Amino acid sequence: MSSKRRLLLHVCCAPCLTVVLEGYRDLGYEVEGLFYNPNIHPWRERERRLESLEGYSARMDMPLSVDDDYPLEENLRMLLEADNRCLACFRDRLGRTAALASEKGIDLFSTTLSVSPYQSPELLIRAGREAARDHGVSFVYRDYRPLYARSARTSRENELYRQPYCGCVLSERDRYLKLGSPGRSGQPPPEEGGAGPEVLYSE
Ligand code: SF4
Repeated sequence: MSSKRRLLLHVCCAPCLTVVLEGYRDLGYEVEGLFYNPNIHPWRERERRLESLEGYSARMDMPLSVDDDYPLEENLRMLLEADNRCLACFRDRLGRTAALASEKGIDLFSTTLSVSPYQSPELLIRAGREAARDHGVSFVYRDYRPLYARSARTSRENELYRQPYCGCVLSERDRYLKLGSPGRSGQPPPEEGGAGPEVLYSE
């Protein structure tokens, strides 16, 4: 039996997985992935991202669970009614990941969203902590944003599909209007370099 620490990684897409998987493996984690992203609109776009991810996960020998739950009306209602739609979106996805980790007997979970300069570390940590508390597991946060440019290069080299917007139909509109995402941090992302230290949150 492996002595490595098991980590359930919420995966949003193949490009973000590249550097995050490598980073956690370098730290000695045995990584399993979960694709649960009902925030990706429309369904065809979700399928496109998933197809690319499945190919890359297989190539990298990473087990991947896929949650096909796609309650579109509920998801849209949740995003439209939330004070901060991205926080609600993080809560939904990280909550489902923490629940599956607990079900599988995996103590730790994390997310590839931590590589995106468009997602606020503060909001991700807040949602991760809540999910950890609700499901009795620990959230691992590591700032991978300095590796964002590298993830883009690696994606091109591996011919991975790179999406032009975050996921929801609102973000698809906002890229044309050049509106910032409500999930974006007020702080500029760190310069290109190494990932930050790993931090564990249990509540
Ligand atoms: S912009 Fe991205 S993180 Fe924010 S609600 Fe839409 S899909 Fe979720």
